[in-house]
Amino acid sequence: MLWGSGVSIVEVTVAPLSIPLREPFVIASGRMDATRAALVRATLQDHRGRRATGLGESAALPPVTREDQPELLQLIATAAADLRGAELGQAEDLDRLLAKHLPGSAVARAGVETAILDAAARLQGLPLWRALGGSDAPALSTDITLSISDPERMAAAATRHAHAGFTCFKVKVGRDWRADCASLRAVAAAVPGARFRLDANAGFAAAEALALLDAALADGLTVECYEQPCAADDLAGMAEVTARASVPVIADESFRGPADLDRLLTARAAGAVNLKLAKLGGPLAALALGRRARAEGFGLMAGAMVETRVGLLAMAHVVAALGGVDWVDLDTAFLLAEDPFTGGWQVDGPRVRLTGAAGLGVDALPQRRG
Ligand SMILES: [Mg+2]
Repeated sequence: MLWGSGVSIVEVTVAPLSIPLREPFVIASGRMDATRAALVRATLQDHRGRRATGLGESAALPPVTREDQPELLQLIATAAADLRGAELGQAEDLDRLLAKHLPGSAVARAGVETAILDAAARLQGLPLWRALGGSDAPALSTDITLSISDPERMAAAATRHAHAGFTCFKVKVGRDWRADCASLRAVAAAVPGARFRLDANAGFAAAEALALLDAALADGLTVECYEQPCAADDLAGMAEVTARASVPVIADESFRGPADLDRLLTARAAGAVNLKLAKLGGPLAALALGRRARAEGFGLMAGAMVETRVGLLAMAHVVAALGGVDWVDLDTAFLLAEDPFTGGWQVDGPRVRLTGAAGLGVDALPQRRG
């Protein structure tokens, strides 16, 4: 039970969340220079009149997400007016409410649902992972992303991250497998003991994807997994890579909801799936689909769009509620030039520990003026 009876929504508000990146985030399908998100605040009140406000992040990453920031702000502002005063009895009530007022945008829904769940857990005085049924919050260890660039720059970025303790790199590939191979070699030479998670963001044909993997393994590189080698709807290509690769293939762009899980299973097009709140519509769906995917034999990655610590913490609480996942990719807050939030986690290089505070435990810092 997420909350007791008599809890209602007092108010939902939304504001742009545009935090500059230290360096451009470059993947096979696009580029970002700042987050393109909406920050949602939801205030709930219980039957005794106590109130709590929660935070949620709706993170756009076009073209991975169809939506961009302006649509998200508009969609959420419109829904906010309809959500005011709504009663929340059970988790199913929230599901029904959000399905009615935010249909068709998983990204918008993810932020609103997160803010409501954060507020509900704060009212209960429980960390969100515990309110979601988790029994433990293990320390997580995340990789760190290397954007597509030239080999020298990628090696320099990897070296900087290695000084901060990161040795597991999520390397963005998928534009040109020979160039990607040169970049991987440069990073491996710069950081002895580096481990690699490849993410092609749907950029390759199966043969190119396998050529890169074969070359990387022939060079003696440690490759942990291979994310979305082929286009989202190229399940035949995904299946070919899955069948021939010696590392798990993870569906990200090919996995956006329950129906995709069935398609991936039937086509044998992945061995694992990447859970992201912005694709799946929020913590409740991510938790349910994560459990179902695991029961079907899939490995699990926990990922995010380009998100601040609000969105990353929400996913980290889902990971804790799931009892852990196979690969944690919750690093984008460390790539931002500013962090306008406080609390929720303790970070030591790649290691992230949730604090045990109620809800997500994160608060916005007072805005600087002048
Ligand atoms: Mg990905």
